[in-house]
Amino acid sequence: MSDQAQRTVLVVEDEEALAVGLRDALLHGGFEATVVGDGVQGLEAVRTQQPDLLVLDLMLPGMSGLEVLKALRAEGFRTRVLIVTALADEEDLLRGFQAGADDYLTKPFSPRELLARVEAQFRRVEMDAAPPEMLQLPGGIEVDLARLEVHRDGQVLPLTPREGDILKYLIRHRDRVVTRDDLLLDVWHYQSANVETRTVDIHIVGLRRKVEPDPAQPSLIQTVRGKGYRWHESA
Ligand code: CA
Repeated sequence: MSDQAQRTVLVVEDEEALAVGLRDALLHGGFEATVVGDGVQGLEAVRTQQPDLLVLDLMLPGMSGLEVLKALRAEGFRTRVLIVTALADEEDLLRGFQAGADDYLTKPFSPRELLARVEAQFRRVEMDAAPPEMLQLPGGIEVDLARLEVHRDGQVLPLTPREGDILKYLIRHRDRVVTRDDLLLDVWHYQSANVETRTVDIHIVGLRRKVEPDPAQPSLIQTVRGKGYRWHESA
């Protein structure tokens, strides 16, 4: 990924030395990394932090990695999951994949191997999230991103190229917080985000008027207080 939106990884690993090593490797690789030491905390951290990727040990005290994975999938979290395991036990891995794991690494592995796998997962996230040219939104609203048009209530509203770019950026980072700085750097291509500007907020207001079923109660472009915005389409 060439843009600036922070890529967050949660590591659930009870071996402290390994956990610290994983965190350092991830930080070094440009990720934002958090570490917790057991399954219960891991599940809670997925709920509260909504990381983009979970690096999940299978053998954990209290609640196993497999149980954590099943619980979070049952709760609807589509977070990508990279299993790390000491056991190259085929049965265990099979259960892991059946429960919705995306990839695995067998211990011991090098920081470079970990980073390569994590990067690969993020590339897949980006590809999955690439917006289609025609968006079908709640309330019968259609957005034609190629022609920059919004069709709603029998009307055709034009989108500005900037609004189209913001929309695509938000959708590409769906379910993740996009800060004003991210938008200024990646959509406006400012060299520095250290500018006093309400530009972003004003554009968001304009965009909501066109794409939100109820612009007064935005549900698609959510405000994340103190942070920025998040695109979310409920299933
Ligand atoms: Ca363990």
